[in-house]
Amino acid sequence: MQDSIYILGAGASGMMAAISAAKNGASVVLMEANKEAGKKILMTGNGRCNITNQIFSNQQYFSSRMKDLSSIDDTYTKDFLNQVFSQFAMEDTLSFFHELGILTKNIDGYYYPRNLQAKTIQTALYEECKRLGVRFLFDCKVKKIEKVMDTYRIEAIYGGKRTSYLTSKLIVACGGASYPNTGSDGYALNLLGKLGLPFYPFKPSLTAAKSMDGFLKALKGLRINGGVKLYLEDRLICEEEGQIQFLENEVSGIPVFQISHFLSVEDNYQKKAILRIDFFPELGEDDLWEILAGNAMKRPNQSMKQLLCGLIPDKAAKLFLNGIGLSEEMPSKEFFKDQNREKQLLLIALMKGLSIKVCGLRDFSGAQVSLGGVLLTEICPKTMECNSYPGLYVCGELVDIDGICGGYNLQWAWSSGYLAGISAANTCK
Ligand SMILES: Cc1cc2nc3c(=O)[nH]c(=O)nc-3n(C[C@H](O)[C@H](O)[C@H](O)COP(=O)(O)OP(=O)(O)OC[C@H]3O[C@@H](n4cnc5c(N)ncnc54)[C@H](O)[C@@H]3O)c2cc1C
Repeated sequence: MQDSIYILGAGASGMMAAISAAKNGASVVLMEANKEAGKKILMTGNGRCNITNQIFSNQQYFSSRMKDLSSIDDTYTKDFLNQVFSQFAMEDTLSFFHELGILTKNIDGYYYPRNLQAKTIQTALYEECKRLGVRFLFDCKVKKIEKVMDTYRIEAIYGGKRTSYLTSKLIVACGGASYPNTGSDGYALNLLGKLGLPFYPFKPSLTAAKSMDGFLKALKGLRINGGVKLYLEDRLICEEEGQIQFLENEVSGIPVFQISHFLSVEDNYQKKAILRIDFFPELGEDDLWEILAGNAMKRPNQSMKQLLCGLIPDKAAKLFLNGIGLSEEMPSKEFFKDQNREKQLLLIALMKGLSIKVCGLRDFSGAQVSLGGVLLTEICPKTMECNSYPGLYVCGELVDIDGICGGYNLQWAWSSGYLAGISAANTCK
């Protein structure tokens, strides 16, 4: 009798693996700790599910091998990604969902289901699995994985009872450790670790940076469109632009999420980590000075606060003026006198690079993705099979790949899940 492929985790990558395996003739059992499939999919893209992105290459992904500037282009990671994506890429994701009858919508390069409902993606994957005869075991939490000769023994609590299963083809798709209330709690990575698979521990990524800088209180609630530069030990590591949000002890928003990998990997946030916020990334310092001085000339009697409020939110204007020890009411013509040149430069420096000391990151409960996972060196990128464990496949966030915001993490789940499923099915033939 044909051995069934057992897949652990009915999330994005697990259901994709089940579909590609079942389409290729395999009998598939899908074990899921929750009472339903794809719980995390429902919360993706603010409930709209950003399935992939028009701009797509290996540049939008990291691994734990990428720790700083010197390793930002790690060729091992890039080659690994190329091999996976050469078999299932962004276009394949779109065709896959179109074939399931889901129209997609491109909003500024980000692809969503046309009805902007994540539920559509969750249901379509689940229904396709059912149509292809995939057997779901819900409320089935895997507790142990053992290698017994050339098979794998899975121990699980299924419907409250301890049960065990034996298979020669096992796909582990249990996700990362982010938003653990969705079921992906990082437990499975430890199970694989106990089996002997080397891994990089999960750390929160795509998340906000924490800071104890007292002045953040003054900016609380503010959102600006600006630039963020990350410095570690005075070296520029990376930079991003977009909407930045200031909270009492946090700096958040997509540009902060995008650079959070480099704060989180190796706990880099402990290494003199500074965010420099640029309120005017589109202007050089001289241009900004010209604009301010020009406005001051046109309306010489307006206060400095009024002058700044024409360019930046009032909370920031107040903070900057206090920061350089200037009265908010000082007439702008006074300030732009030559003897105040030093303070003028200080003001411009604050607007172009407000410096915030980072002391940590928001934890897994607020991190959209986990960096870390099973090391790439342990996995064959042509099949997602583990090199030292024939018949054992890993995919999705459980693998040491994390992407930036914009549909890239789901794309990784689709690509790696597809590959694991089809490879496992091919070896069953
Ligand atoms: C708030 C939020 C928004 C996001 N938005 C986007 C977005 O718009 N676009 C994007 O590309 N990415 C987004 N992501 C990231 C994306 O959702 C994940 O990267 C992706 O779901 C990972 O897929 P996966 O299959 O690896 O894991 P998951 O989807 O997490 O699935 C893993 C499954 O395994 C199950 N499981 C875990 N352990 C066990 C066990 N021991 N036994 C049995 N079952 C187990 C879990 O219950 C879960 O169902 C978002 C993430 C979050 C948290």
